[in-house]
Amino acid sequence: MELIFATHNKGKLLEVQRLLPKSIKLLSLEDIACHKEIPETGDTLEENALVKAQYVTSHYGYDCFADDTGLLVDTLNGAPGVLSARYSGPEKDPKANMAKLLKEMKGEENRKARFKTVIALIIQEKPNFFTGIAEGTITEVKRGNQGFGYDPIFLPLGAQQTFAEMSLSEKNQISHRAKALEKLTKYLNQLADQET
Ligand code: IMP
Repeated sequence: MELIFATHNKGKLLEVQRLLPKSIKLLSLEDIACHKEIPETGDTLEENALVKAQYVTSHYGYDCFADDTGLLVDTLNGAPGVLSARYSGPEKDPKANMAKLLKEMKGEENRKARFKTVIALIIQEKPNFFTGIAEGTITEVKRGNQGFGYDPIFLPLGAQQTFAEMSLSEKNQISHRAKALEKLTKYLNQLADQET
């Protein structure tokens, strides 16, 4: 079975391929000559993941999955949410995004937030969703320089270190993305078992 992961990121692709059964061959957008940045036009993470997966199935005819992630802050009514990458503008600048968020949160006592990843999988035209959540709080200042995005200001629940102070393997044990991927791979492994 061939399955597209709607990503241009080779690192993400390899990480997921390792978790999947050998009978599933994972292909990236580059592998099917889709060099386009698929527009994220949805109002929710679910819609965006689905839009990306549907784009691939309708234009290229492959079964496919796509992911979308956002940081949801309680006191900001779930912002930046679906706009996480572009919170401070279209440049998608992580430093400017963090500066804006820390400013919005200045003096705020309730600092509860969560990362949420949604994966939309389309197999034989039927969509399925897999969600992973990492609960935590927004720190007062940046800490650490690993990772990406909002990692320096996100302290996972029960942890002493921000995501940016952890190694990738430590982050992967508790991250939103890892949890969503775990559900997806469990489902795909079950499908592969049924087919054999
Ligand atoms: P994407 O859907 O994976 O492209 O994520 C959208 C945006 O959410 C990214 O541009 C980052 O700003 C933020 N983000 C997603 N995942 C993480 C993470 O694991 N750590 C920090 N920020 C993240």
